[in-house]
Amino acid sequence: GHVVITIDGPAGTGKSTAARKLAQLLGFSFLDTGAMYRAIAWGCLQQGMDLTRHDLVTNFARQADLQIEDQTIRLNGQDVTQAIRLPQVTLVASQVAAIEGVREQMVALQRRAAEGQNIVTEGRDQGTIVFPEAPCKFFLTASPLERAKRREAQLRSSGQTVPLEEILEQQQLRDERDENRTIAPLRPAIDATIVDTTSTSLEEVIDYLQRVVIT
Ligand code: C5P
Repeated sequence: GHVVITIDGPAGTGKSTAARKLAQLLGFSFLDTGAMYRAIAWGCLQQGMDLTRHDLVTNFARQADLQIEDQTIRLNGQDVTQAIRLPQVTLVASQVAAIEGVREQMVALQRRAAEGQNIVTEGRDQGTIVFPEAPCKFFLTASPLERAKRREAQLRSSGQTVPLEEILEQQQLRDERDENRTIAPLRPAIDATIVDTTSTSLEEVIDYLQRVVIT
């Protein structure tokens, strides 16, 4: 059988980079599930959709053609890899991610993506909802300030200057949404290894994950 490794946690914990690197080291596929919710959010924004119309958003998600190759994500044929990282898309992503019909569709796509291969999958609900049987689960955390600082640096490296205050505010809003939604709230799986990355370098985190996977 194939192996699924799940990495969940809030934004800014280094989750995405660590997951990508771990997959590379193990020769596994990698799935960034946040990018899927972001792509749906981007598509809804593009259409000027009323986000309170859960039926419309769900329909859009059901009919969306999402293509994910390692670094590139396409929505209905269009490369949205860069566009989905914009702060306005980030906030809407957590809004559409709270809609049950959207999650149902994304969960189905994620399970299909994992079929027949070894995979490291990263998100909020991978260990709790999508792959509850995964043999190896991680939950990454870090202090809110540290996470916001990392986000700031990440945005800066992609040419966007956003004040730390603003990042902290948006981060808190998003955390609250992700933790308090009724469907698939962000929380560690009971069998997840919790990794606090507040004062740990990315290299150390990856090293640690790799050691846990191997033992
Ligand atoms: O990880 P990332 O910041 O790209 O995720 C964007 C948003 O998508 C999160 O704030 C969360 O609301 C949602 N998400 C989710 N479940 C996942 C991955 C992401 O609800 N598995």
